[in-house]
Amino acid sequence: MAATAASSLQIAATRRPSIASSTSKVVKAGSYNVGFNPGNTSWDKLTSTRHLSNLGCLRNQNHSAVPTSKRPFSAKAMSESSETKASSSGLPIDLRGKRAFIAGIADDNGYGWAIAKSLAAAGAEILVGTWVPALNIFETSLRRGKFDQSRVLPDGSLMEIKKVYALDAVFDNPEDVPEDIKANKRYAGSSNWTVQEAAECVKNDFGSIDILVHSLANGPEVSKPLLETSRKGYLAAISASSYSFVSLLRHFLPIMNPGGASISLTYIASERIIPGYGGGMSSAKAALESDTRVLAFEAGRKQNIRVNTISAGPLGSRAAKAIGFIDTMIEYSYNNGPIQKTLTAEEVGNAAAFLASPLASAITGATIYVDNGLNAMGVALDSPVFKDLNNKN
Ligand code: NAD
Repeated sequence: MAATAASSLQIAATRRPSIASSTSKVVKAGSYNVGFNPGNTSWDKLTSTRHLSNLGCLRNQNHSAVPTSKRPFSAKAMSESSETKASSSGLPIDLRGKRAFIAGIADDNGYGWAIAKSLAAAGAEILVGTWVPALNIFETSLRRGKFDQSRVLPDGSLMEIKKVYALDAVFDNPEDVPEDIKANKRYAGSSNWTVQEAAECVKNDFGSIDILVHSLANGPEVSKPLLETSRKGYLAAISASSYSFVSLLRHFLPIMNPGGASISLTYIASERIIPGYGGGMSSAKAALESDTRVLAFEAGRKQNIRVNTISAGPLGSRAAKAIGFIDTMIEYSYNNGPIQKTLTAEEVGNAAAFLASPLASAITGATIYVDNGLNAMGVALDSPVFKDLNNKN
């Protein structure tokens, strides 16, 4: 495994040249009193939304007239100005000598890819589990260099994926696989893709792993409100999005080195109402977070493995786009979060690298928010209610 000091990811006290900082002048010029002014504080600056309507809130503007590249909150998996470049000082995240299996990568747009990159930047060896129906196109694209630009690490080298494994995380072993799936031509060309078999293959190929990442979810009825979700759809969401993690950890645990870590990805819809995130997906994420705590205890006591989940902000991944309202959620997050900048997948990747590293050795059973702080907000600043209050003042 290529392991150079320069490849280690470093925590550096740098600030991204962000949309927020570039709009600071606008914030001052456009103070917008929303009606709660406790004494002489600069409350109006904190709650200012004028700059939001100038720059961030394009809800009432014609989106199609604004090129995606010019939109301040456009979704992108990787920031162009990387904060992860190794610097000569700082506290290093050093994962050299560690091996990671990341389940749920089928392109270079999602959180799984970004996590793989951050782990690779910190020196870890990368193995990937790709959903069987997406395997062929992912491997072909990888082979043909379609992802080469996205593979560039902070030190200029390309992320190497040591091996891609076929995986369908809703099936634990071959006995679980129904005939129609066995006969499906998208599955016919692959083998050993149940969770148990994938873990066995990794064991045969590499012996052990140190880091297990679950970056996958699926809810066939996600676009239906919970009230209209069928039992089948609800259970399918739980199976693909929550039990899949239980199964992965259960089957990979025997080959995980003590001191290792596992990480999954969750979403705030588990604990707050997000209309549109339906089909039992909110329930599945709630289960995933609860399981994170129970599994942290069980895997911790059994094998000194830490179990955490990252509650990530919205990203325009392939899966999220399929849900249909991701651009609205990205815009909402930008307009209402405490840190007003575009959330990048890279930031989630870096948090995962930290959680996987010995620097996080006392963190387990936790849901870690990587969402520009949106989870902490109690009000939506761009609500018309605040505009009315302001007009009355
Ligand atoms: P993504 O499309 O990059 O990843 C989802 C992956 O799941 C895909 O690669 C897909 O092939 C895989 N998958 C689906 N069913 C599978 C199965 N049965 N077996 C194996 N793989 C399967 O999208 P993403 O948004 O990066 O999703 C990754 C994780 O992040 C998910 O858990 C998602 O819920 C979570 N998340 C996403 C957002 C967001 O806004 N995109 C926000 C918070 C959390």
